[in-house]
Amino acid sequence: MRYYSTKNACQAFSFAEAALTGLAPDGGLYIPETIPQFRASVKNSLLSMSFQEIAFETIKPFVKGDIPGSILEDLCTGAFPFNAPLVPVNPGLAELFSKGLPALMELFHGPTAAFKDFGARFMARTFSYLRREETKPLRILVATSGDTGGAVADGFFGVEGISVTILYPKGRVSELQEKQIAGLGGNISALAVEGSFDDCQAMVKKAFTDRHLQETLALSSANSINISRLIPQAVYFAAVAGRAQSGRYDSDGEATPRAKKETQASSETGAASTPTMPSGKRLFRAAHPVTFCVPSGNFGNLTAGLYALSMGAPIAGFIAATNINKTVPDYLESGNYKTRLSQATISNAMDVGAPSNFERMAAHWSYEELRQMIRGVFVTDDETRQTIAEVHRNYGYYLDPHGAVGWTAVQKLKAAATGNITSGNCVVAATAHPAKFSETVESITGAVPIPSTIKKALGRTAQSLTIPVDLSALKDFLLSAV
Ligand SMILES: *Cc1c(COP(=O)(O)O)cnc(C)c1O
Repeated sequence: MRYYSTKNACQAFSFAEAALTGLAPDGGLYIPETIPQFRASVKNSLLSMSFQEIAFETIKPFVKGDIPGSILEDLCTGAFPFNAPLVPVNPGLAELFSKGLPALMELFHGPTAAFKDFGARFMARTFSYLRREETKPLRILVATSGDTGGAVADGFFGVEGISVTILYPKGRVSELQEKQIAGLGGNISALAVEGSFDDCQAMVKKAFTDRHLQETLALSSANSINISRLIPQAVYFAAVAGRAQSGRYDSDGEATPRAKKETQASSETGAASTPTMPSGKRLFRAAHPVTFCVPSGNFGNLTAGLYALSMGAPIAGFIAATNINKTVPDYLESGNYKTRLSQATISNAMDVGAPSNFERMAAHWSYEELRQMIRGVFVTDDETRQTIAEVHRNYGYYLDPHGAVGWTAVQKLKAAATGNITSGNCVVAATAHPAKFSETVESITGAVPIPSTIKKALGRTAQSLTIPVDLSALKDFLLSAV
């Protein structure tokens, strides 16, 4: 597969070049020349294939020529020892789903309990393979609004020949996120920037086009602008779309945030008998392609979902749910794309005023095409809090603030009864475990169950260096470590 910059359709790059450099030389983002198609045999057997098999089939055409099949199989097995279960908010109320209640695609069963584990773990293993013959150590530079940093730190921790520097907005990430970003040490270093996520991202972009840095260091990015992080995110959309179309759901995962106590309480009223359910029970009307509601910030997840749709996965469309940083919903409404400064919200991993992956969406699809595939909805903090309270009270399920933005967006579209995008099966991407945002969630629901992955991170101590919003401060740090 060949890749091009979003800013220049003339110069082609290999997957390896695109992955290892992150950003094209002209400052554009890499996009694949074409979006490949699933073979019919794959499309028809998504339900019976394992998550790793679907990963292999989804990623294979994107890396053709750079990663042989046998290696890719190992990369997928190593990267995805967890998957993305499709669950109802309450197993005892499964029949409600036929009446239009959304289900959840839980993306938080990886080591840092958020969806970015999928991309980061695949990317780390891919880099390691692609650089197997290099001797110059690689420096990875990442800007994070919260979850990217933790996932990247975890994915690359201890990988030989690679060091990682993570920039995050000081005071705008949770205590746990900070420990996940800055608590590992070793080949991972963390910089607390006195500014917003957009400032961090702008500094990283500048560093990549800085001649002096480029000549001195082997620099690469690892946030959602990296194509090798984006592609594996298409996997769970394809896998879950296959399951949803068959009308089946999965049994609870270990970290599913439904308190046992809650389920028992509802069993007394006859609503549910056990906290788990047998895998493969009917959830939806079968044979209806699913609509995914994706809580979005930088729009990497949604772009990956659009790839899965374009590849032929049974997906009807998407709802792009944002908090008040609603650049893309406004664009879908008006046709005018206008970036702005980000505003802080309780769903802070989505506080993005200038979503970087929009450039990719606009390079692949016209405004009209995007409007056909995506509905945009924005949600306020008050609405998000209300949803967390209601879903917990009614179903015993703990939504994190990002998943709650998604859940609210579906309800708002239904209430407005606009178009038919929510008339079929709807699945909300639960992008993080609620215990990652326990300060917000617990103030609404009381104590949240904590998965083992998060307990481990909480035991660490964050160690970072504070720097101003200033490229020279970043350069000094990067060059001092050479
Ligand atoms: C990163 C993140 C998002 C936003 O995803 P994008 O791909 O940047 O749109 C949503 N929820 C959580 C929990 C995240 O960490």
